[in-house]
Amino acid sequence: MSCRKLRWLVIAILTCCLAGAVLMPASSARAVDTTSWFRLLSVDRNLAISLNGSKLPVKAMRIGDTILVPFSVLHQAWGAVYATSAAGSALTIGSRHAVWQGMSATYREGFVDFPWSVAPVMSGGQLHVPLQELMEPMGAFVGKQASTGDLIVAYSTRWQKEPWLRQGQLAYVQAIDRVPVNLKRVTTTRKVVAFTFDDNWDAVAAVRIAELFHAYNGHCTFFVIGTNVRMHPDAIRRMVQLGDDIGNHTFSHPAATNITDATFVKQMQACEQVLNGMGLTSRPYFRFPYFAEDRHLMQIVTDQGYVTIGSAWTIEDTGPKRSVAHSVATIRRFISPGTIFVAHPNSMMTYDAMKAILPELARQGYSFVSVSELLRGR
Ligand SMILES: [Zn+2]
Repeated sequence: MSCRKLRWLVIAILTCCLAGAVLMPASSARAVDTTSWFRLLSVDRNLAISLNGSKLPVKAMRIGDTILVPFSVLHQAWGAVYATSAAGSALTIGSRHAVWQGMSATYREGFVDFPWSVAPVMSGGQLHVPLQELMEPMGAFVGKQASTGDLIVAYSTRWQKEPWLRQGQLAYVQAIDRVPVNLKRVTTTRKVVAFTFDDNWDAVAAVRIAELFHAYNGHCTFFVIGTNVRMHPDAIRRMVQLGDDIGNHTFSHPAATNITDATFVKQMQACEQVLNGMGLTSRPYFRFPYFAEDRHLMQIVTDQGYVTIGSAWTIEDTGPKRSVAHSVATIRRFISPGTIFVAHPNSMMTYDAMKAILPELARQGYSFVSVSELLRGR
């Protein structure tokens, strides 16, 4: 590091330490539950503010294109703590801090300065802060709801450790908020169907299935076992390249109901780590091996930052009755818009069944979507 850069760094550290040493928490600070999976804040065209769908008794303000909200809203939503001192003002959410000087139009996140298009405003005795400009660098997802134009901010302190949420994922975050924890189908009139494939013991069959869906301009979802990812990393890369979702199906496929909570968590984390080692993630979808699940285990899945994906029907490509004809008949019988099917590409039979049924479904007007696309309303 150059001398100049080092000097800059020392000044920055000293500034932050000084600011931290004299900051006093605002008197409004009180215990707020920030452990829920996420909180969704939205501001509509009339500047009404809602938190997880419930309207708050305060309003946002607009200056130009910038939406500002009372600081108390951030406190209510995410337990934000605001503190001031002679050195500046600081906002803390979880382990993240934003620091700014007076009411100036920039603030500091870590060692980086972010410009605000509009500086904070005191109005009616309340500090109003620019919502998007503040929350985005804090790690929140900020977007506009396509149907209503509402400004939406989704944020959980958990994401600071695991920032898996990416642009374009907001719609399914909202969808997940509305559906039961264990997602088996989505209510829709659009002819979409989500085929999901567990285990992937036969990597060749799995890749051929991924390519088959690609040929129909469609996608599917693979719930992978960590050990199989390790054995066939190229198969996983190919699925990702084709735009399919990769979900977590534990490291070695134990029945979660037969192991301790700690082991279950380790199983999920180990699967994630194998994918992380390839620069990938299994987030945010999880499927229980053998569907061996209960409320308690699903809460653990949620606490780990995952959404449990169930299935409305299995195509019955395992077990004594397995055959292409049987799988095809099962799909024909149970398909309806928004259905999630589960299958197991553990042999070429599953590929053969998909190859037989997809043309028929395409003719009926079905499109084939990944779980993300299903939730995003593709
Ligand atoms: Zn499985």
